[in-house]
Amino acid sequence: MDSASDGLMRMAAFTWLRDLRNIYGDVVPFAELQKGFPFSSGRVRVMGPQGIFIPQGGSVPLSITTAPPKPGKDRPYDDQIGDDHLLRYKYRGTDIRHRENAGLRRAMVENLQLIYFWAVGQYFPVWPAFVAADDPGSLTFTVGFDAEQAIGGRELLEAGADARRAYITQERRVRVHQAQFRQKVLVAYRSSCAICRLRHTELLDAAHILPDGHPRGEPIVPNGLALCKIHHAAFDRNILGIRPDLQVEVRADILEEVDGPMLRYGLQACDKKQLLVPRRPGDKPRPEFLDERYQQFREAS
Ligand SMILES: [Zn+2]
Repeated sequence: MDSASDGLMRMAAFTWLRDLRNIYGDVVPFAELQKGFPFSSGRVRVMGPQGIFIPQGGSVPLSITTAPPKPGKDRPYDDQIGDDHLLRYKYRGTDIRHRENAGLRRAMVENLQLIYFWAVGQYFPVWPAFVAADDPGSLTFTVGFDAEQAIGGRELLEAGADARRAYITQERRVRVHQAQFRQKVLVAYRSSCAICRLRHTELLDAAHILPDGHPRGEPIVPNGLALCKIHHAAFDRNILGIRPDLQVEVRADILEEVDGPMLRYGLQACDKKQLLVPRRPGDKPRPEFLDERYQQFREAS
């Protein structure tokens, strides 16, 4: 592949990712990424199973990926991104001349734009990414991100953390945290609303039992509940509560209202239903969290 078509290929990949981001937000389903992007009358893969990915016919990597966290094993989401907002990315193996390592070195020299797939259970694509430094001593590349595309490559190192911060912002980290929490909670609840059993992932949320901002409102599965949009909103607004013995309780004034099927079947019928909880003991809602939250519901009623 000559450098002109390599450049066009990268642009096609970024356009495709932008479209996916418009549909899915920051975290793109793996099934979509696997399809690859349309380019010169075919589709080009964008990532390998893990690590440094060089597209067919090319010699410079298009993407780098960190392995997804292993099930049941928590891995800090940003273990490789330092406070300086730079990613330390390990070589493939220990051979500095390995094709993939040589490819990343070339991306650095030619200042080519890459995609970084940040694994959060699903993948969070970050682009453009630039290889800013190469350290054969520690077998590590330093990778930076620049949303404005004004600077790249080694200039990023000199630009200071403020310029780099443009991409890996605090908001983005929070969103990654939320995506990770949602993913874990939905897996634990087998993608089903704990109150009504609805099984449409697009309509499910990971609700906090003790809210975000509460001293113990951590984004951990025992403080989470998979709830459909309507039951999530109803729980957050104290239209319904969950007793520590896992029984759903609908607020008294709501039970007395008269209205159409959404009220009748969507809310009133949930009264006294038993909450559906994960089988794994470590995933079940923690009783003291439910208890504290239920007291709030009682006070609001
Ligand atoms: Zn529901």
